[in-house]
Amino acid sequence: MTDQNPNKEQDLELEQQKHKAKMKARKTVMDKKIAASTQERGVLILMKGNGKGKSSSAFGTMVRSLGHGQKCAVIQFIKGRLETGEFKFFKDMAQNSEQLNWHVMGHGFTWETQNKQQDITAAQEAWAVAQKYLQDESYDFLIFDEMSYMFKYEYLDVKPVVEALKNRPKNQNVIITGRTMSHDLQEIADTISVIQDERHAFRLGVKAQKGIEY
Ligand code: ATP
Ligand code: MG
Repeated sequence: MTDQNPNKEQDLELEQQKHKAKMKARKTVMDKKIAASTQERGVLILMKGNGKGKSSSAFGTMVRSLGHGQKCAVIQFIKGRLETGEFKFFKDMAQNSEQLNWHVMGHGFTWETQNKQQDITAAQEAWAVAQKYLQDESYDFLIFDEMSYMFKYEYLDVKPVVEALKNRPKNQNVIITGRTMSHDLQEIADTISVIQDERHAFRLGVKAQKGIEY
């Protein structure tokens, strides 16, 4: 038996027309926005906040960049675990190709080292490496992982970092991660994402695990 309810068909037709009109209006707005975004240049992205997902997001974005054959460099300002999954995954590429360089600097978290002078020296060494990449236009994409702590603990002066970022090659993309971000960096950033901590398994008593935390 066929559905003989003419009202139902009319309702459906009306609904479809409404949907079409709504999408058409949305397309006009989106097309305008797309047409207004004409600049072609690299961006500075800050991943901040207390939640989990800052560094992993940066490495995920680097996969995109590498997939397009771009040249990338990672500088980890705080040495966490020696063999993270991401490092193990990228190690061959970092050692055997020109496409990726990976530097693990620093001596661990500041409450672990408890030696301010040693931390400052490590921060300066890491910055010296970072600075070279910011002057090298053959590099398309840079990650300065956990760099924000260098400013929080005043191991590095933010001003020269801001100047170097401003003067970097036009198409170079940079992602900086860390829980708190300096005001000066936020002033010059193009994209700022806040990873909010709503819940973390650690506080439920779950141990840090392979493939998730490292
Ligand atoms: P990820 O590397 O997993 O993307 P992240 O870079 O956002 O994390 P960090 O502040 O660098 O986070 O902390 C690194 C480690 O701390 C990771 O093992 C992560 O799971 C853990 N962590 C992140 N956020 C929290 C939190 N809110 N509470 C407890 N541990 C956390
Ligand atoms: Mg991190």
